[in-house]
Amino acid sequence: MAKTVTIALPNGAKYEQPTGQFIGNQFVQGSGDCFSTVSPVTEEEILKLQGASTTDVDKAVAAAREAFNGPWSQLPAIERGAYLYKLAELIDRNRELLAAIDAYDNGKTFSGALTGDLDEAYNVFRYYAGAADKISGQTIETSPAKLAYVVQEPLGVCAQIVPWNYPFMMLAWKIAPALACGNTVVLKPAEQTPLSALYFGNLVIEAGLPAGVVNIISGLGPTTGSALANHADVDKVAFTGSTATGKSIMKAAASNLKNVTLECGGKSPSVVFADADFEQAVKWTHFGIMENSGEVCTSTSRIYVEESIYDKFVERFVEVTQDNDKVGDNFNEATYYGAQISKTQFDKVLGYIEDGKKSGAKLLYGGARSGSQGYFIQPTVFVDTTEDMKIVREEIFGPVVVISKFKTEDEVVYKCNDTSYGLAAALFTENVSKAHLVARRLQAGMVWINSSGDSHFGIPFGGYKSSGIGRELGKYALDAYTQAKAVHVNLGSKL
Ligand code: ADP
Repeated sequence: MAKTVTIALPNGAKYEQPTGQFIGNQFVQGSGDCFSTVSPVTEEEILKLQGASTTDVDKAVAAAREAFNGPWSQLPAIERGAYLYKLAELIDRNRELLAAIDAYDNGKTFSGALTGDLDEAYNVFRYYAGAADKISGQTIETSPAKLAYVVQEPLGVCAQIVPWNYPFMMLAWKIAPALACGNTVVLKPAEQTPLSALYFGNLVIEAGLPAGVVNIISGLGPTTGSALANHADVDKVAFTGSTATGKSIMKAAASNLKNVTLECGGKSPSVVFADADFEQAVKWTHFGIMENSGEVCTSTSRIYVEESIYDKFVERFVEVTQDNDKVGDNFNEATYYGAQISKTQFDKVLGYIEDGKKSGAKLLYGGARSGSQGYFIQPTVFVDTTEDMKIVREEIFGPVVVISKFKTEDEVVYKCNDTSYGLAAALFTENVSKAHLVARRLQAGMVWINSSGDSHFGIPFGGYKSSGIGRELGKYALDAYTQAKAVHVNLGSKL
């Protein structure tokens, strides 16, 4: 058994953090590369962990295969659902602890982790607990003497590779639907935020899941992650992260034609028409980029405002940004912005800000580090940007927004779609037909009308173009984690 380490959380709570790889319902010592998880708030190391080596990955996949072929596949669907209800209950019972672990490990606000990430994780487990015994195929009468039916069967062993921005919530999005459909999983959290996922191993044991149904391995992307994505005995890879990594995972998946679901980057637009509810549009567009300190793949990081209200909008947007400019202690209820995840990401975001300044964009708010310790960045507002600027074209993944004006609907639709990404888009107007017509023209997997950043466990989540392949959540995830088997039945005699 691998050791546990006592961690004192910033809110005063203490707990035992497992440090090993969770394989076959046991925490075993990893034998791969060592890596550190660092507090983005103090810049100090929280823990050093030894990641999963290729051999450890083999063991985790073998444990998942054995469970898939054995106890898990024999279980009636309603029993799978019962396990998911148990996990939901345990998540709820450990809600405060898991939120505090994620806030500590990621630098996000504790209140956001609690009411955003953990409540969502709980609901996702309950949703798929109820869905487990409602997965159904079709019956088709192909001719009077023949019948065909289709059953949705699990894929097998699913590799799940998740990012650092919503560590526990992403685990829920991945594990719950996969198990509901009868698969077994090997999940790898991001190396920046491995703690809550490893802790989840305790809940898997407590819920009494058969050994090997859920395996959690930590480690670096290019080694542990790559070994998992390339593994010949893995049937599916579900990934959330950058588009660049998504592409390498898709290549790795090609080795044995694994099924893939990829949820990648974005540079999502908000469009504010002159006939919008002005105050609501300002509030939602602000939330759309600044939520979770800008570390959201669906962030609406480009705002286009109709010319006649542009000046007024910019003025009010800056006021709202100022009103919410509470960067700092992420365990303080009043804080809006926690820290950026890592030094790498912090430098990257500041690099984009410098690039924006040099490229001639007008900096109206923020534009620098906040404080002198921790990876905190001021909310930053650039205006009068042009479409060729790097800050307009590339995903920044921080609290940085660009605002520019437009004259016509055609012009703004063109600008919104003139990107390789297609994850989300928001639009603001009080004109019902315009709202729906523009929603149709936007090339995005998710469109918000008079809102921003909404997602719901019953509604598909995913992107067009280089923002991804496939959909998570809702009944779409049940398709993503099953395959159709057609059975042809001959009811007559061959002439
Ligand atoms: P970021 O660049 O923001 O850290 P990534 O897309 O690289 O985001 O990371 C998302 C997840 O993908 C993490 O769990 C990371 O370890 C993993 N990952 C990174 N590179 C690879 C790779 N080559 N193969 C498999 N997984 C990877």
